[in-house]
Amino acid sequence: MNGAASFFPIYKDRMDTEKYILLGKTQDELKQWLKAQSLPAFMSSQLMDWIYVKRVRSFDEMTNISLKHRAFLKEHASLGLADPVACAVSKDGTKKYLFATASGIGIEAVYIPDRDRATLCVSSQVGCKMHCAFCMTGRMGYKASLAAHEILNQVLSIEDSTSLTNLVFMGMGEPCDNIEAVLTAIRLLTDEKAFAWSPKRITLSSIGLLPGLKRVLEETSVHIAISLHSPDALQRKEWIPAQKAYPISDILQTLKAYDFAHQRRLSFEYIMFDGMNDSLAHARKLLSLLNGLKCRMNLIRFHRIPDSPFAPSSEETIQAFADFLNARDLQTTVRASRGEDIQAACGLLSTTAKN
Ligand code: SF4
Repeated sequence: MNGAASFFPIYKDRMDTEKYILLGKTQDELKQWLKAQSLPAFMSSQLMDWIYVKRVRSFDEMTNISLKHRAFLKEHASLGLADPVACAVSKDGTKKYLFATASGIGIEAVYIPDRDRATLCVSSQVGCKMHCAFCMTGRMGYKASLAAHEILNQVLSIEDSTSLTNLVFMGMGEPCDNIEAVLTAIRLLTDEKAFAWSPKRITLSSIGLLPGLKRVLEETSVHIAISLHSPDALQRKEWIPAQKAYPISDILQTLKAYDFAHQRRLSFEYIMFDGMNDSLAHARKLLSLLNGLKCRMNLIRFHRIPDSPFAPSSEETIQAFADFLNARDLQTTVRASRGEDIQAACGLLSTTAKN
């Protein structure tokens, strides 16, 4: 959920798309492909182990696969791994990685260390169709949707890959608009034979595209974060055009049908815009809108983008808003800004040519 104003084409390190890409494939898909190549089905277990558990970066390391079969794999398949083409490091330790994609346009992933947590914010699309008014990606328009291997490559190819504790789908793009690839990535991240992560380590953020959101709710147990930003339907529609097709009232009604009382967490994201959505009247409306839902609120500082009518709320206003909601039993936190100096903070990701 982030963005850019013009594209930054990357041709270096593009993957060989002629070959069958193994990363991002489930065991069943690997079995089918192996069968079609007249290779033994048991190799699917070996490949799952080497790719997702042992995380090797070459076929030569797959030592329990015969030399003959390794030679076949080298010729006909690709691991689908690609190193980032650039990395910027913030003074607060946040790292922003730039990756090439099959579309020829780069995407970014942000690594955010925080005491005993290390979170990776991944992108799901190159650009975005949703045109949210406050978002640089919205301005960028839509270029492509990432394949599952391009999503998982962000996890596997950063230098801090093995220390990750959490993953959030909050980078470029609307995950529910690329639902098949996102669900495949989540399945592999949580598959015992692949990454074996608990779904509690994963949060998917969406503006609420209901067909995709319903599938995430039904087919996974990951945490859900809904970009709300206004309790007022008209104001939300001005800022998030998708509100027309998927009104927040419908989104909330859908969410009420699911159980968030136990392990699964539902949160709402609310960017604080000076004088627009940051009054206590807005806070009151929020309380009545979310009444009856077990959820949390994340307040997000707005980071200025060029030529925009939006300005950030003051720290005092944000704190007063948070205090008001917390005092009325809506658990509210103010999200810390991270990586602002490298344009990695919320809302600032982009694959633009930087001046
Ligand atoms: S859904 Fe909206 S906020 Fe998220 S990336 Fe797209 S335009 Fe930006």
